[in-house]
Amino acid sequence: MISDQNYWNPVLETLPREKIRRLQLEKFKRIFKWAYDHSKFHRALYDDAGMQPEDIRSFEDIGKIPAVEKSMMRHIQRKDPFPYGDALCVPLEDVAIFRQTSGTTGQPVYQPDTWQDWEWWAECWSYILWAQGYRAADRVFIPFGYNIFVAFWAGHYAAEKIGCEVVPGGVLDTQARVLKIQELQATAMMATPTYILGMADTAITKMNIDPSQLTIQKITCAGEPGASIASTKKRMQDAWGAKVYDHAGATEIGAWSYECLEQPGGIHVNEAFFLVEIEDMETGEIIEAPGRRGKMIITALDRYAQPCVRFDSKDVIEWASDPCPCGRNFRLIKGGVIGRADDITKVKGVLLAPAAIEEVVRSIDGLGDEYEVIVDKLGDVDRIKLKVELVPGAEERLKSVEARLKEQLRLKTNLAYRLEFYDYGRLPRYDVKARRFKDLRKKK
Ligand SMILES: [Zn+2]
Repeated sequence: MISDQNYWNPVLETLPREKIRRLQLEKFKRIFKWAYDHSKFHRALYDDAGMQPEDIRSFEDIGKIPAVEKSMMRHIQRKDPFPYGDALCVPLEDVAIFRQTSGTTGQPVYQPDTWQDWEWWAECWSYILWAQGYRAADRVFIPFGYNIFVAFWAGHYAAEKIGCEVVPGGVLDTQARVLKIQELQATAMMATPTYILGMADTAITKMNIDPSQLTIQKITCAGEPGASIASTKKRMQDAWGAKVYDHAGATEIGAWSYECLEQPGGIHVNEAFFLVEIEDMETGEIIEAPGRRGKMIITALDRYAQPCVRFDSKDVIEWASDPCPCGRNFRLIKGGVIGRADDITKVKGVLLAPAAIEEVVRSIDGLGDEYEVIVDKLGDVDRIKLKVELVPGAEERLKSVEARLKEQLRLKTNLAYRLEFYDYGRLPRYDVKARRFKDLRKKK
């Protein structure tokens, strides 16, 4: 049943589309003017492009504004005012929070926030958690390192804001975390898909505890696309006997999206707080229609210390065609974030998204969760190798597992692989974010 109780903000989440768009346009003008007036970096960028605040009257005008690349942000860091550089829009003494990006794709970028920005982070996360069924009666366990990365910090504050009981699982190791979940009968948790699967594996193989018999009912994932990859989601849900929900966000952007209770095969963009544009990677055209992939250009409409205005996130996404049965009018991204524009690569002339390989590996009964993909060249010819693990007891089924893996890989990715099978536990394990795709051609 749909009632106001389903929404963290019943007004904004069900606002008619034309009102959402009007709100976004007004908020965009405000944040653009803020950035233009308060940051030398933004003013120079926009002056060079001949765009001033009064030039923005429509979404078409917004499309003409140059996007900010991550490399530009790296370039201005460690300069005056130290250490953020001149994209900072507030006096240094107003900065209350330091975080930095994880550096997955290069040198980390520092991220300053004011206290108001930090409250905004928690508010954005409140939409996520509420939409995924978090309520005051929940006891939420957060198994993450509480360090310089944003990760689940704002999820922690949002859970408190909703009124949940929050248990910070900071410096505990994985076994201690599993025991704490058991001891306190926690009902929900947040972590990366890699860690959710890793925790389940530790519980089963090292502790003789079946995580599906614990009390966790819902899990919020972030940091990797896994919770939107059907086979990975299923493995996590089966392992924990819990519903698993996706959320995509980023340090430089904010918590911009969430899957809802309906699990509609996609994530909602929080359009009250973010403007998402999808840009065709070849023509630069803004894609409005469902069914065409492009890269995300995103604006955080209410973040002030270091604004995020038309940030080129390199996330590859597409709009879904159907509205969500949950009743929210925030648009859906079909299948979540499909990958990063940098990761989608051509192998033997075929476009390959690493997530497609994960989808296949984890859909095959008899294979473990871990895998590794290595692309290289022999002479002028691309080669692709896939390493997988057999789960204990699957050795005698090797032939049928191999046949099924080959067939599914060919169907889903249009490529033939050299396959290597390993005993369970032989491939590398990752604690937080995994690096399972290695393209050795790039180093040459
Ligand atoms: Zn929904």
